[in-house]
Amino acid sequence: MRNILLVLSGPSGVGKGTIVNYLLEEDKNLVKSVSCTTRAPREGEENGREYFFISEREFRSRIQENDFLEYDEHFGNYYGTPRSFVERQLKDRSVILEIDVVGALNAKRLMPDKTVLVMVTPPSMEELENRLSGRGSESDEQKRDRLQRVRYELEQAHLYDYVLVNDDSRQTKIKIQEIIRREKEK
Ligand code: 5GP
Repeated sequence: MRNILLVLSGPSGVGKGTIVNYLLEEDKNLVKSVSCTTRAPREGEENGREYFFISEREFRSRIQENDFLEYDEHFGNYYGTPRSFVERQLKDRSVILEIDVVGALNAKRLMPDKTVLVMVTPPSMEELENRLSGRGSESDEQKRDRLQRVRYELEQAHLYDYVLVNDDSRQTKIKIQEIIRREKEK
């Protein structure tokens, strides 16, 4: 069986984090890559768990050193996948990346044989708006920007290997486990 790079994308607020946590709890041969970002931590976020929070200066110098497998900018902040971690882990286990559409397509281009793209979509835009409001950590303007971004991301779904509607995180987790099993056997 081969190890895969499973890229999970989908709009912010869709519930990717919960699904990823379920997947990691149940599969010790799966590890999540923690990205670096220049954005400030949200309440409850911890350095090294959700992200490595680094300065823009450090981010730029790491770009120069080719330290990122891929990186992108969202809302004025940089986000990048640490190359060495992913390459090292893939020797022993499968790796999950929780990144946006642009990053996902870049990963596929860089590692076409290993990368499997899964998009998780909300049951409806209304549902997503409710979930984003529930988060309470963002201004109306930030929410509006995010919803615009959501529409863009959903339009890219046809470029993905699998698209799953997240009605229920546990059911979505089971579907992804099935995808992983099938893809590893290829
Ligand atoms: P947030 O600030 O809500 O945590 O993330 C904003 C966006 O950045 C999300 O779409 C998320 O998937 C994306 N993102 C997080 N980490 C990475 C990364 O390493 N690379 C890329 N390209 N996007 C990322």
